[in-house]
Amino acid sequence: MINELKAPQEVPLEGTNPFELRVELSKGVSESVVKQALETGDLGFLHSFTTGSAVDGPGVRLVAWTAGCQFRCLYCHNPDTWNMMNGMAIPLERAIAEVSKYRHGLKIMSGGFTLSGGEPLMQDRFVVRLLTAAKGMGIHTALDTNGYLGEHLSDEELDQIDIVLLDIKTWGRARHRHLTGKDPGPTLEFARRLAQRGKTIWLRYVLVPKLTDDENDISHIAAFAAGLGNVERVDVLPFHQLGRYKWEKLGIDYKLNEVEPPAHDLVERVCGQFRSAGLKAY
Ligand code: SF4
Repeated sequence: MINELKAPQEVPLEGTNPFELRVELSKGVSESVVKQALETGDLGFLHSFTTGSAVDGPGVRLVAWTAGCQFRCLYCHNPDTWNMMNGMAIPLERAIAEVSKYRHGLKIMSGGFTLSGGEPLMQDRFVVRLLTAAKGMGIHTALDTNGYLGEHLSDEELDQIDIVLLDIKTWGRARHRHLTGKDPGPTLEFARRLAQRGKTIWLRYVLVPKLTDDENDISHIAAFAAGLGNVERVDVLPFHQLGRYKWEKLGIDYKLNEVEPPAHDLVERVCGQFRSAGLKAY
């Protein structure tokens, strides 16, 4: 059944830009196919591919954006990726073929393949099989995740991933629940496990004025990250409004209409906090 599925012909795999709105691309896919896909990884639900990214891991990256996320971050730039059925149903073999097309170029440019989302681990079987295939082609692999479902990966499966781009959203249970709708514990536990296994982390922190700029919270995150010993760098990502139109189009209540991107001084202060803890921050 899965092998007969094709992505909608009129929607190209490659997105026109990282903030393209894509909805209901798997509308006709039955529940039993979805269930089977999640169990086997024979089929994935992807928002799009992006080529030539310079910000999603080392070197130049091919990025596959998965659909489906269990967080509901107030600052999310891509709420169309919350619902798995908004993504295109792509057979694993087709996704592997897409990665394979770029394998020589990615190696020449010291880059690799990154799976991002959405939250990729909502489709952990597909993710593991795709990353394993990429690794088998000699391609550097990265997983960009909020870490909440990290326990879905065995130690052997983690070995297929060269680097984890781990999003830590904020500090403290109440704040984390307010910001994302979920507890922070599983993410922090996943970070500790990655540290125990010596897996490199690039930590990502979205900086939103008056929402994630609390000095005390950031000190805690910086101390936690520095204590892990495997955080190679921290990327402080300034909030922007490029995804706002998606909230409007999807009819979801957006709480950050009035929020401006952080001023340069604030970005520097936060980077400085991570640096003071002994981390490289950009
Ligand atoms: S984890 Fe990422 S995709 Fe999910 S809601 Fe948060 S920002 Fe959006």
